[in-house]
Formats: sequence, structure tokens, C-alpha cells
Amino acid sequence: IKTIGVLTSGGDAPGMNPAIRAVVRTALAKGLKVKGILKGYNGLISDEIIDMDRHSVSDIIQRGGTILYTARSMEFMTQEGQEKAADTCRRHGIDGIVVIGGDGSFRGAQKLAAQGINTIGLPGTIDLDIACTDYTIGFDTAVNTAMEAIDKVRDTSTSHERCSIIEVMGRNAGYIALWCGIANGAEDILLPERYNNDEQELINHIIEGRKKGKKHHLIINAEGIGHSTGMARRIEAATGIETRATILGYMQRGGSPTCKDRVYASVMGAKAVDLLCEGKSNRVVAYKNGQFVDYDIDEALAMTKDIDDYEFMVSLMISK
Ligand code: ATP
Repeated sequence: IKTIGVLTSGGDAPGMNPAIRAVVRTALAKGLKVKGILKGYNGLISDEIIDMDRHSVSDIIQRGGTILYTARSMEFMTQEGQEKAADTCRRHGIDGIVVIGGDGSFRGAQKLAAQGINTIGLPGTIDLDIACTDYTIGFDTAVNTAMEAIDKVRDTSTSHERCSIIEVMGRNAGYIALWCGIANGAEDILLPERYNNDEQELINHIIEGRKKGKKHHLIINAEGIGHSTGMARRIEAATGIETRATILGYMQRGGSPTCKDRVYASVMGAKAVDLLCEGKSNRVVAYKNGQFVDYDIDEALAMTKDIDDYEFMVSLMISK
């Protein structure tokens, strides 16, 4: 391996910059050249490639987002797009690529590996919805951001003795909702993996809480369930308790990465370069059972995980 490329793909996540920095600095320390690919797989197809040196990654460890930009590339889903991307790599002498992104981006990395380019994936998504790993870059920052925002909603909710539905991100996965629900001491947590659409149960719980003297009722709703505004309207009509919906939205994807995201992303970035230097390809770096490990991408994508794997945490959701 002489030249390594690095790209970010899919949804951005805080911690992608520390990962990029670690890839660049580790590779340079090993005497390799490094190229940055802009805008995910699109940049490989349209040849948007930059040379990276130590300064390219100065002053970015504390920044959210990704200095390389990110994208979802339709063209890369096609065989023709994948061939174009591989040609671009060869033209630039890139013989190894680190792809930072979610499951979809790993599928892309698999395709690139099949074209003869060595690829290593790093799990980058705030959603924590990658089966092979207990940690994904960005999750810790996102849950901390959401937790702080929910604390603020709680204050005003208590003052006005309201019911508040706060919708957090996570796509079809409920990990952000589960963690925030526990961290914020929510009265109810709605997880897409488990919610049975029983609004009456929610309404009864709110009324019971009011009878016990609760000043607010916090419901953490997951993006995968959605419809928070309609839910708030129906709850207010049924209970007579003022109910508001707050959708936290994209703020959860931004902001300075937490210490954990900076450190884990840095370790993973360095490990990706080590793997490429060992001649490995079609692998992903993961954090499993307290250790940084790597798996074959095919194996990683075949794994499954469900919120029920977090059985003990889920059990904390039971009505208080
Ligand atoms: P997030 O979970 O944050 O959305 P992701 O990596 O799962 O991240 P996707 O949009 O699913 O996001 O994938 C990112 C990009 O990876 C796609 O736009 C596409 O270019 C590429 N990709 C996804 N699936 C495939 C596939 N089966 N074959 C080739 N490329 C793919």
C-alpha cells in the first residue's frame, strides 16, 4: 500500500472529523500518501479528490460534521458507477480506501473491494443501528445533545404542568430514544421496535401520573414512529392536559464531538490504516464486548441486532 484514500458517506455524524484526522495522521506517520475524496462515493465518480497533508486535518478534532462533505450517491449503486469509481482510484494511485459511514456505505465498500480496491469501513452514524458493533461514531454526541435539549423542554414542561412529546432521531432504530428516555427520566419511551400504537395506554398513563401529582409527563418518541404533532393533539383532546410536541431534528447531527466520540473515532481511524497496511480488505472496524475488533464486511452485514438485545435497558422503560 502506497496511497490511502478516505471518504465519508451517508448521513454525517459528529466524530467523523476525528476519524479522518486519525486516518491521515496515521498514514502519514507510516510514510504513505493520503488523498481525501469529497462528497462520498460521488467524489470518486466525479473525480473530486484532494491531496492531504498534516495541515489538512489541523484544528478539526473538535468540529462536528465532516470536512470531506458527505452524500448519498445513486450512481454508485450501479455497476457502471462502481467501475468509474475504481478507475478514479487507479488513476490517482489509491490502493486502499477507508469509508466512514453506515450500513449502506459498507455495502458500497464491499462493491469497491470487488473492483479490486482494498477497503476498510468505519461505523459512522448517530443511529447506532449497525449490528456488528456496540458503538458507532457520533452516537454518543447525538444522545448527549438530545439529552441536554430534553432537559430544557422538561423545565418548561414542569412550569406549565404540560405533557411533552419529544421526537428524537434514529431512523427505524430506537437506540437514541432508549438512551435519552433513561437519561432524561421520561415517563414513556416509544421505540419503533416495540411500539404497538396503543395510544389509549399512553393516555391512561398520563392520567394516572396526574392523579399521583406529577407536574409533567415526558414522552420520548422515536423518528421511526413519528407523527408526534398528531399524537400531541389527540392526547390533549383525550386528557384535557396541555400537550406539546417538539421535534429535535438535525441539531442532533451537529456539534462538537464528545470525548468518547473523539477517542473511539481516533482509535478506529488508526486501526483502519493498520489493517490496510497488513494487506487486509473488505473489512470493517467495530467495537464489540469492550474491544476494538474487525470483521469481514459480508459477515458484518449478515449480523442482526435488535433493541431487545438491550434487554435490561429496555426493562427500565416499564412505567414508574
Ligand atoms: P446512514 O445510516 O447515516 O444513513 P448509510 O451509509 O447507511 O448511512 P446510505 O444512504 O444507505 O447511508 O448509503 C450511503 C451510500 O452508500 C449510498 O448513497 C450509495 O452510494 C452507497 N451504497 C449503499 N448501498 C449500496 C449498494 N448496495 N451498492 C453500492 N453502493 C451502495
